[in-house]
Amino acid sequence: MESTLSCQSSVVRCQLGALWFSLLAAVALVLPQNRASAAGGAKPNVVVITIDTLRADHLGCYGYSRIETPNLDALARLGARFTQAYTPVPITLPAHTAIFTGSFPMATGMHDFSGNKLPANGTTLAKVLRDNGYTTAAFIGAAVLDSRFGLNQGFETYFDHFDFSRLDETNLDLTERRGDLVMDEALGWLKQAPRPFLLWIHLYDPHFPYTPPEPYASRYRTHLYDGEIAFADAQVGRLLSFLKQRGLFDHSVIALAGDHGEGLGEHGEKTHGFFIYNSTLHVPLILKVPGAAPRVVAEDVSLVDVMPTLLQELKLPIPASVQGRSLLGLILGRQGPTVARPSELYAETYLPLLHFRWGQLRGLESGGWQYIDAPRPELYDVRSDPRELRNLYGAP
Ligand SMILES: [Zn+2]
Repeated sequence: MESTLSCQSSVVRCQLGALWFSLLAAVALVLPQNRASAAGGAKPNVVVITIDTLRADHLGCYGYSRIETPNLDALARLGARFTQAYTPVPITLPAHTAIFTGSFPMATGMHDFSGNKLPANGTTLAKVLRDNGYTTAAFIGAAVLDSRFGLNQGFETYFDHFDFSRLDETNLDLTERRGDLVMDEALGWLKQAPRPFLLWIHLYDPHFPYTPPEPYASRYRTHLYDGEIAFADAQVGRLLSFLKQRGLFDHSVIALAGDHGEGLGEHGEKTHGFFIYNSTLHVPLILKVPGAAPRVVAEDVSLVDVMPTLLQELKLPIPASVQGRSLLGLILGRQGPTVARPSELYAETYLPLLHFRWGQLRGLESGGWQYIDAPRPELYDVRSDPRELRNLYGAP
C-alpha cells in the first residue's frame, strides 16, 4: 500500500476552503432565460436516485462489458452523462450530505458515517424545495442514512424505519433494506403524491456484502458486486417505467449518482472509506433536465455540484452556504465560462482517524494530477496512470 494512515503534513489544507468560499461568494450564477419549460411553466418534479457504492466503470454506459444495466444506460442516453464525476468523501453519510447540502464536509462538519449529525439549521435541497411549494419524500436503503443523522431535514416523508434493537450484534452499515422494498414504498407514495414533488430514492444494494437475489446471484455468481448493481438497475427501471406510464417522465428533472465507488482490491482496499483513490472517488453522474439534448460531459465535477444545478434548473436562488457550482451550462452545452469555482476536486476521509486513531487523508485533483496529503505524500498523473499506481511525488 502506498499510503500509511497518519497525517501531519498539509499542503492543500488551509487555502483550499478559503479560496472556494471566497470564489463562490463572489460569482453570481446566470440563470437560463431562453429555454422554455417542457410543460409550459409548471414546476418540474425532481427525482434524485442515489445508488450506493457504485463504481462508474461498472456500468454499461461507462463502457463496462460484463454487466447489463439497460435502464441506467437508457437514462444516460437521454440526459447528460458526466464521465469525470467525483465524490468528496467515500463514505455514505457524508457523501449524501454533500449531495443534499451542496457543500463539502469541512463546511457541514459531516465527516463520518456515525457520531455526527447535520445541524438542525443546515440548508438542504429538501428544505429549499419544500419552502418553494414542493412535496418532499425520501426512501432510504440503509441505516447509516437514518433520520437520527439529520439528512431528513426538509423531507416531509422520510421512510427509514430501521430496527436498531440488534445494533450491538451487527454493524450499523449492515442494517439495510433491499432495493425492491425501497422501490415498493417509493412507488406506493408516488401514486398519490401531490405535484410538484422532490423524491429521493436511495438504493444500498451494491454495498458489501454482495448478496444479490435471483436471477442476479446465478447470472453474476463470479462477480456478485456486479449482480447487486444489475439488481439496482432493475429497480431504477421500475421507477422510470412508472414515471413514463403516469406521464411524469418528460417533465421531471432526474439526477442519478453513486455516492462513492468500491476498492475491489485496488490499493489493497476491499471496500471503501480508508483511502481516497479514484477507485472509490470516481462515481457515475447522470442529469436529465427537460428539453435538454443528450450530452457527454468530460469536465471534472463534484457531487457538491448537484444541488446548485437542480436549483438553477428550477430557477430558485442558490443559498450562500452552497459551495458547489451549477452544471446547467455544461448540460445545455453552453460555451464560455460556466464555473463558479476552479475545477479542482477536493476529497477526504477521516474514517481512519475517527475509528482507528490513525489519521485523516485529504487530497486535491486538478489538471490531471492527483495529490494525496499523506505522511508519505503521493502524486499521480491520472491521465497516464488512471489507477494511481506510480507515485511521482519527489520523482526527479
Ligand atoms: Zn455509500
